[in-house]
Amino acid sequence: MSAEQRITELKELLKYYSDCYYNQDNPVVDDFTYDKLLRELERLEDENPHLRTADSPTVNVGGRASDVFSPVEHRVPLQSLEDAFSYEELLDFDKRVQNVLGTDYEYIVEWKIDGLSVSLEYENGIFVRGATRGDGVVGEDVTLNLMNIKEIPKVLPEKIPYLCVRGEVYMPKAVFEDLNAMQEILEKKPFANPRNAAAGSLRQKDPNVTAERKLSLFVFNLQLCEGKAFSSHDETLTFLKELGFPVSPSYNAFSNMKDAFSEIERLGELRETLPFDIDGAVVKINDFSSRVVLGETSKFPKWAIAYKYPAETKETRLTDIFIQVGRTGVLTPNAELEPVRLAGTTVRKATLHNDDNIKQKDIRIGDIVRVRKAGDIIPEVLESVPEKRTGEERVFSMPKKCPVCGTGIVRVEGEAAHRCPNLECPAQILRNIVHFASKDAMDIEGLGPQIVSLLLENKLIEKVSDIYELKAEQIASLDRMGQKSADNLISAIEASKQQELARLIYALGIRQIGKKAGKILAKNFKTMSRMMEATVEDFVNIFEIGEISGKSVVDFFSSEANRTLIEKLMQHGVNMEYQDESVSEVFLNKTFVLTGTLPTLTRNEASKIIEDNGGKVSSSVSKKTDYVLAGEEAGSKLKKAQDLGIIILSEEEFRKMLP
Ligand code: NAD
Repeated sequence: MSAEQRITELKELLKYYSDCYYNQDNPVVDDFTYDKLLRELERLEDENPHLRTADSPTVNVGGRASDVFSPVEHRVPLQSLEDAFSYEELLDFDKRVQNVLGTDYEYIVEWKIDGLSVSLEYENGIFVRGATRGDGVVGEDVTLNLMNIKEIPKVLPEKIPYLCVRGEVYMPKAVFEDLNAMQEILEKKPFANPRNAAAGSLRQKDPNVTAERKLSLFVFNLQLCEGKAFSSHDETLTFLKELGFPVSPSYNAFSNMKDAFSEIERLGELRETLPFDIDGAVVKINDFSSRVVLGETSKFPKWAIAYKYPAETKETRLTDIFIQVGRTGVLTPNAELEPVRLAGTTVRKATLHNDDNIKQKDIRIGDIVRVRKAGDIIPEVLESVPEKRTGEERVFSMPKKCPVCGTGIVRVEGEAAHRCPNLECPAQILRNIVHFASKDAMDIEGLGPQIVSLLLENKLIEKVSDIYELKAEQIASLDRMGQKSADNLISAIEASKQQELARLIYALGIRQIGKKAGKILAKNFKTMSRMMEATVEDFVNIFEIGEISGKSVVDFFSSEANRTLIEKLMQHGVNMEYQDESVSEVFLNKTFVLTGTLPTLTRNEASKIIEDNGGKVSSSVSKKTDYVLAGEEAGSKLKKAQDLGIIILSEEEFRKMLP
């Protein structure tokens, strides 16, 4: 293949990977693979400079602002960083710095937080806008979502006319682990790593999702500050700290690369103890006038470099293979490993996916295996190391009986999965109850996997309907539970009785019936009883419900146990009727901009009303804006709206438009 062909191929591949990573928040390869291909492209372009084009991933910042959010033009571009993977590469960078600056310079070394970059803008000391990096020039307006991150100061102690800072939104490790444990129990796809989870949680249309995901932020740069002058980076960080920003926790200065590298190593050693994820350390010139002299490329500054810590792969012994039984009875084989420290956590188990995968890789019990964290977090067994076999290893075969309830296992023709067909299997019950109580189902706060296990172990519940018979005293008497959390749980259980019928249908965990189908069925049948008596044909007659789903519901209700469950829930007063929740559409397709302080409504409240009535809220006024809802001290947006002849509403006028 010619260099030209390979360059074209690499560009296409890297663009596809970048799109999955930045725009879909769903990486398909790990960073190591991506970086290797990017390096290859860089090398080929260096050797053939005439083949380097303006659209190359080596020239551009990877992301793009999606049209789900309003665009925000960055006043100061949000650039990327040059990478280094070895000390030698850092020394090369240092040589380039010395060629320009001589020996008089200072480096600051900071942790490179693994999250996603945002800009935060303040006008007269008030947080007015926050945006993602996008392509570095235009980002996405995620102000409402950022409002839900408590570390972000909403009002500064000083009324600086205009201030813009750059920071990294991240998901703390503990939050990430909880989130993925929940995804696992709900049998949803886990997030690849905290970066990916943070990006997916921030780039959400619903700001409440961001709030639930408990994101955090570190600020690492002052982009612009009107009315103040600074001469060095550490001076700005100290200033930002004084303003109340959560500044990067470590930023020490060094007069040469050797010492800077020792600091990088020190920071790397602390990696495992940190509550947040890092993917490297950043070395930056401290002095601003030196930065100007060094300059920048279109993609990154020439005064900074990111050192990436190597992705770890370790060998350990696979001591056993154990089976986990999922909500729908699927048996997943997992590797039990001799504990090994890997990328920040102790790994004791790794998924082996299914029997075919084990056979294909010839993984045996007792083997030394190579383990890695894919995308840095989910442990996976890469391969076994047959050279290290002693002869004691055992070939694994899937059990014939469910390891939890002893029922015979079935393997449906054409499916990779083995299943336990017993609906009363305790493993399935645990997952069914957790699913029933989950956020999108009956939303019973506090009834997560751990407490459900505890309740099952203590025989306080045996099936879903038993949760409605629980007493606060029983819960309070359990290990690690107090009276207050018991009372809260009982209130949450009680409140769930009023949930919409659609949620209840979804909560039952009927195969093929997700959230959307739950809504369609509730709207069409209006009551649970009517749905229970329906035939497959009745389901097929409903627009958007097919035969497979219909058959699945009919099968579900043909089971005596499931009919008894509904009866019990009914006796406990769980709502079984559809209430017409159709919202008004008075603002359908209308775009609002909010400005100033409204007499009674907060921005969040006004936005919610607009969205509940079919409208959209945008942060900047343009010809596409339909209404500007203006309160006291409305600023430049009001003026712009007047210039463009856009309808300006007071809160009172706005309220009159509501149904
Ligand atoms: P980068 O992530 O390597 O470095 C730049 C980013 O570092 C900035 O956006 C900034 O937000 C962040 N940062 C964190 N702490 C910082 C600090 N203290 N000072 C300065 N910046 C700090 O660059 P990039 O261009 O965003 O992305 C490249 C990375 O993304 C590579 O590691 C690559 O492997 C990965 N990537 C992976 C895939 C994939 O498919 N797996 C695809 C595209 C990119």
